[in-house]
Amino acid sequence: MGPPGAGKGTQAAALGQRHSLVHIATGDIFRANVAEQTELGRTAQRYMDSGEYVPDEVTNAMVRDRLGQDDARSGFILDGYPRTPDQVDTLDSILSGLGEQLDGVISMQVDTEELISRLLKRAEESGRTDDTEEVIRHRQEVYQAETEPLLRIYGDRGLVRQVDGMGSVDDVSARIDAALPD
Ligand code: AMP
Repeated sequence: MGPPGAGKGTQAAALGQRHSLVHIATGDIFRANVAEQTELGRTAQRYMDSGEYVPDEVTNAMVRDRLGQDDARSGFILDGYPRTPDQVDTLDSILSGLGEQLDGVISMQVDTEELISRLLKRAEESGRTDDTEEVIRHRQEVYQAETEPLLRIYGDRGLVRQVDGMGSVDDVSARIDAALPD
């Protein structure tokens, strides 16, 4: 977990490679559906473009389907999910149905101005339609209002590992590995 620009996508993909875990990023799945112009993509796009969250029932159904696939049986990293209390409840129910549980929650911290500057830089490179300055700032607010409170829920369960997300990709990766549960 971490605000937009914290490096979740980069780090989750690298972590998946290092530990042979499937990397499941809800934002990536939505973007693939937008590119393929599926019905899910059409629904998701208008929320994504304005920096709002895609409705829980849409997101939850997609994650339930994805976690039910065979390649998720031997472990996965969730990136960008859950983001709301309702998604936490759904994830609990999906995992208990699969006989699985979360091993840990990595929380990445990065200074706010650094977040904005990383996202503006990414905007030039990626062409993501939700990387305009106005939408970037709105996404930070949505994160703080809707998702940051989830750290309390997972904190109460003893799952949260705080990681400093400032610095090079390799430095942050090393911190994440050091913070992983056994
Ligand atoms: P991300 O790539 O994680 O930054 O996600 C990009 C956008 O996809 C978000 O701003 C949301 O519009 C949407 N999205 C991704 N994950 C979720 C989620 N768990 N719940 C709702 N919307 C999501």
